Amino acid sequence: MIEMKDVTKKYPNGVTALRGVDISIKPGEFVYVVGPSGAGKSTFIKLMYREEKPTSGQIVVNGVNLSTLKDKSVPLLRRQIGVVFQDFKLLPTLTVYENVAFAMEVIEESPSAIKKRVMEVLDLVGLKSKARMLPGELSGGEQQRVSIARSIVNQPKVVIADEPTGNLDPDTAWGIMDIFEKINAKGTTLVMATHNKEIVNTIRRRVLAIEDGRIVRDEQRGDYGYEI
Ligand code: ADP
Ligand code: ADP
Repeated sequence: MIEMKDVTKKYPNGVTALRGVDISIKPGEFVYVVGPSGAGKSTFIKLMYREEKPTSGQIVVNGVNLSTLKDKSVPLLRRQIGVVFQDFKLLPTLTVYENVAFAMEVIEESPSAIKKRVMEVLDLVGLKSKARMLPGELSGGEQQRVSIARSIVNQPKVVIADEPTGNLDPDTAWGIMDIFEKINAKGTTLVMATHNKEIVNTIRRRVLAIEDGRIVRDEQRGDYGYEI
């Protein structure tokens, strides 16, 4: 599903964010990525959806070799990978419905199929009744649920999230985790960078720890392992 072989990422300013990373994530896995600030977690996530390219090494996602993927094929890759951000990245002038539908409109689906699917995913995240609202009219947790609906509308095999609960209070964060668990239970691979110790230590899943650009721990049902 996701393979990295000897992946190194050096940014143009000379910072080496990842060094010799080897990992393999199987279909349907739920993986937390933990580690101190600046360790390389975001870089690891960005390499998976080709927001950044590795300096060396191989990355394969859903059978697509990102090293040889042409830039013009990146949008096609992105449709197979759902991405969720800490700051939601919703389009502020579009309604909830439109934010989710937007991700589908690029693919050639009929308007009725789009409507059916958008309402289905809004229902899954509990926001069917807010379809006509604008992001600015919603709470942070609701905005994150819209962004999760957008990430899954095209039925990706993989969902990648970079600190999805980072801006949310604890109760709201647990609500977001319920949704991720439902998505993962349907077979979608989930990779989530997080600083949320309580969540990692409660919903036990595979833990990858990154420190100074290296994978220093890879445990099935691991714990968070840091004090904060
Ligand atoms: P984390 O997500 O664990 O906080 P990052 O992947 O964001 O770590 O950053 C890893 C290292 O790479 C840090 O030293 C950071 O400053 C650096 N870095 C991240 N993005 C860039 C960038 N676009 N250009 C240069 N350096 C970067
Ligand atoms: P987070 O801590 O949430 O992982 P960062 O603060 O590391 O996020 O990064 C925020 C943005 O700034 C990212 O797009 C990252 O690529 C970029 N960035 C991070 N560190 C640097 C850096 N040293 N130089 C340039 N861009 C950076």
